[in-house]
Amino acid sequence: MKSIFKISAVSASVIFLMIACSTDDSSTSSTTSVDDDEIVTELHAAYSAFNSEATTIYIDGSQVVIETTGLPNHETVYWGEGHELYREEPDVALTPSIMSSNNNAVTISVDATPNLTGNTVATQLNTIGIAVSGASIFNDQEGAGDLDQAAASLDWTGAHIGPGVYHYHLEPKAFTDDDDNLVGVLLDGVFLYGRKCSATGDYPTDLDASGGHTTSTQYTDGEEEYHYHIINELYSNTGSYVAFAGPYQGY
Ligand SMILES: [Zn+2]
Ligand SMILES: [Zn+2]
Repeated sequence: MKSIFKISAVSASVIFLMIACSTDDSSTSSTTSVDDDEIVTELHAAYSAFNSEATTIYIDGSQVVIETTGLPNHETVYWGEGHELYREEPDVALTPSIMSSNNNAVTISVDATPNLTGNTVATQLNTIGIAVSGASIFNDQEGAGDLDQAAASLDWTGAHIGPGVYHYHLEPKAFTDDDDNLVGVLLDGVFLYGRKCSATGDYPTDLDASGGHTTSTQYTDGEEEYHYHIINELYSNTGSYVAFAGPYQGY
């Protein structure tokens, strides 16, 4: 009898400790979420570079909402013959055209102020960001495998239909070709630029594993800000550069 009593006394104190810990945890996380909900009143200047025909971009509390038709403002074979932006690309192993795809529209919400806490999150299949053209950015994976399997279907600007939305896997030459142009914004709210950085006019040499670093850009008015670059390393047999392979740094 004595030993049973001891055991229950121990469990009771363990339970008490757990309650005490979880109380602490919840008060910590509510403090954090106050910071997260910081109200932002002005859109980042980089959003002015987005295709206004395709995108509607607005602030909602601490988030920036990007609604896009997903229809890019540049030429590709994927428009299909007869479209004014159709481009003949006989070497591309075609997947369905943009116009035969049911729906290219995507809406994403991103943090107006990315959480740069040092935690990283892997990218997933599907849209990982929206490009300035209005179309989606994907990572270096295709279906269950790597991009090599799909390389033949990529158009001149590193994009195709998967099926689903038209999306870029590689450096989108239609709007960034070995330069410092804005490519788009990723789901963690961090902007992605071309292979060069406007801070130096050259390829950055201080990038982290995600292709990110902190310098001024052409949209920050001299302020330093964390952003990603397309990493200047040719990807496999594609003859081009992966747009973004992750991980995210801003979640
Ligand atoms: Zn794809
Ligand atoms: Zn840079």
